[in-house]
Amino acid sequence: MNKDDHDSRRDRELGMRRRITRRDFLNGVAITVGASLLPRSVQAQDSGPDPSAQEPLLAAGITQHDPRYYPPALTGMRGSHPGSFEAAHLTRDGNWKASATSTGETYDLIVVGGGISGLAAAYFYRKAAGNKARILILDNHDDFGGHAKRNEFRSGGRLLLANGGTFAIESPFPYSPVAHELMDELGINPPALQAKYGLPHLYDGLQSAVFFDKDTFGADRLVAGEPTRAWMEPTPKSLPWKTFLAKCPLSPEVQRDILRIESELVDYMPDVPEAEKRDRLSRMSYKDFLLKVVKADPGVVPFYQKRTHDLYGVGIDAVPALDCWALYFPGFQGMKLRRVAEGRLSFTARGAATPDQKPYHFHYPDGNASIARLLVRSLVPGSVPGNNAEDVVTARVDYTRLDRAPSPVRIRLNSTAVQVRHVGDPATAKEVEVTYALQGKACTVRGAGVVLACWNMMIPYLCAEMPEKQKEALHYGSKVPLVYTVVGVKNWTAFQKLGIQRVFCPGMYHSSVNLDWPTSIGGYKFPTSPQEPMLVRMTRTPCSPGMSARAQQMAGRYDLISTPFTTFESSIRDQLGRVLGGGGFDPGRDITAITVNRWPHGYAYEYNPLWDPDWAPGQSPCEVARQPSGRVTVANSDAAAAAYTGKAIDEGHRAVEELLGTARAAKSGT
Ligand SMILES: Cc1cc2nc3c(=O)[nH]c(=O)nc-3n(C[C@H](O)[C@H](O)[C@H](O)COP(=O)(O)OP(=O)(O)OC[C@H]3O[C@@H](n4cnc5c(N)ncnc54)[C@H](O)[C@@H]3O)c2cc1C
Repeated sequence: MNKDDHDSRRDRELGMRRRITRRDFLNGVAITVGASLLPRSVQAQDSGPDPSAQEPLLAAGITQHDPRYYPPALTGMRGSHPGSFEAAHLTRDGNWKASATSTGETYDLIVVGGGISGLAAAYFYRKAAGNKARILILDNHDDFGGHAKRNEFRSGGRLLLANGGTFAIESPFPYSPVAHELMDELGINPPALQAKYGLPHLYDGLQSAVFFDKDTFGADRLVAGEPTRAWMEPTPKSLPWKTFLAKCPLSPEVQRDILRIESELVDYMPDVPEAEKRDRLSRMSYKDFLLKVVKADPGVVPFYQKRTHDLYGVGIDAVPALDCWALYFPGFQGMKLRRVAEGRLSFTARGAATPDQKPYHFHYPDGNASIARLLVRSLVPGSVPGNNAEDVVTARVDYTRLDRAPSPVRIRLNSTAVQVRHVGDPATAKEVEVTYALQGKACTVRGAGVVLACWNMMIPYLCAEMPEKQKEALHYGSKVPLVYTVVGVKNWTAFQKLGIQRVFCPGMYHSSVNLDWPTSIGGYKFPTSPQEPMLVRMTRTPCSPGMSARAQQMAGRYDLISTPFTTFESSIRDQLGRVLGGGGFDPGRDITAITVNRWPHGYAYEYNPLWDPDWAPGQSPCEVARQPSGRVTVANSDAAAAAYTGKAIDEGHRAVEELLGTARAAKSGT
């Protein structure tokens, strides 16, 4: 597809019928008169115009050592923000050329990657080696936390917080004893926090809805209501499927077949033993199940296609039917499959088949950025004020303290590792040299050990000395691209008038529009009245249905990195205007700020039974990829092929244990 085709397809996808004027545009934040030239990070968002909102801090001359440096308050394009990925891409393409200067620093440990895995690795290393251990953490972003990022907004004189990435402490699997212990040591008790600070009843009376868009379904229509699932008890909110479908712009054939899928108790493989049923369902996509097994009208596909986007980053054409059964999708209710964790399920769905596990869930207002901030508070005393897992939510991080000479642990932001190599023969070397790029310059530091808590696919470009088989395995997983958009709005009366809290938009640029997840904790008070400012959450997963999941993920990455903020902004305004317009929402008047958290390298790749083989124990790509190489070990969630915080912590722990084992062996001469 050439660029013009790509652009025109994108424009069609946006369905831009509502005229949006230049005047409406924020480039991230509300525009009024009297612009300050300071970036958004150093002023309250209510205070006025900020044409420089998307400008990276360094480009504005504000470094990590400047008291004005405060990345969580930046709006516009965040996540993989401009300035964070260019050096890595130059390295990938073999075009990183700057000659390096030594900083003269030496450390006991250098960690590449300041996400949860890297921060946890530093924590575990210090715990084992003592408080004097000298540790340097390098990260290419302007903020620490990796995917666990924090977005701050100021509106109507109040602070509003959102997760820019990692949403919550939750996992289809229980946290391991190691991860549990870390959470305990940080003072985080998810069930207790949930019981004390969750606001489960805030949106009582507001329903789910589906927005059918004209381009996909022939008419723009918002249909509110929660139809009853065949196997669920009706609730006061629920309505019969037939009543719900009668309101939808869908043909009689499509309505008939959705009704069948949702409510009929049919065993579509009546004489097939259960084990074989599972096997067959693991080898076909949910889309194929609906079309070839249920024999539904193809017109049902647009209604279901994006149901798997949030969790898998691809549509139902690329998710096994067995996974969808495990996740309680409709169509299987008559198939007599028992709920046990069996069959060739992906990592995500394997956990979903064990509903009896104890709840271990909590959503901090900034998601798991609070875990990252608690780790940083522990690693660099004084950098994050406060002393418990509640006051961390409103604490303002002092970024100037993160990389100071007297501190044994230092966190250096905006620093992309471009080369990692042993000083001498990897088998006997006593040191590893790391070259990193910072503001177009290359610097070297040395460490007795290195944990690579960055993304697997980057490692072969950093470590030329690794064995070819390991490099191949490191390249295997293709991270899942996705976008978490957060929109500041003046109030949420439109949601209240429409009686809705979350909207599935199966045909639109963002596939969902939700009121933010409510939590009030410590000094942070979530808006409780519809007249108060609010954050609206939207998700987008760029996919190319019909290809393998990995091919779709590669195409999606290109899509995200090549889409300018203005395209996002116009689509957001168009979508919110159409979805909420019936409740009186006016994007030009009601939107106060937009942050697009773009993650071209999002979730870790989890093996997909539709394309990936069953590897023998020890032979899966993530296991081959995470082998230690001399004094270099590999952490991060890619090393577990599982996109979960608990797994990122486990991998940080393993990588440190391996490094300490190597150090002990070197000392004892074994
Ligand atoms: C949008 C989103 C939502 C999620 N929601 C949840 C959730 O609700 N619950 C859950 O348990 N998990 C969730 N996950 C998964 C979870 O966030 C991850 O599993 C976990 O945070 C990964 O941590 P990590 O440290 O391994 O990797 P990352 O967070 O990716 O951190 C690695 C860091 O290394 C940096 N890096 C890469 N290359 C270099 C280099 N050459 N030099 C320097 N630095 C480098 C990266 O930029 C990054 O900052 C979510 C993920 C995403 C993307």
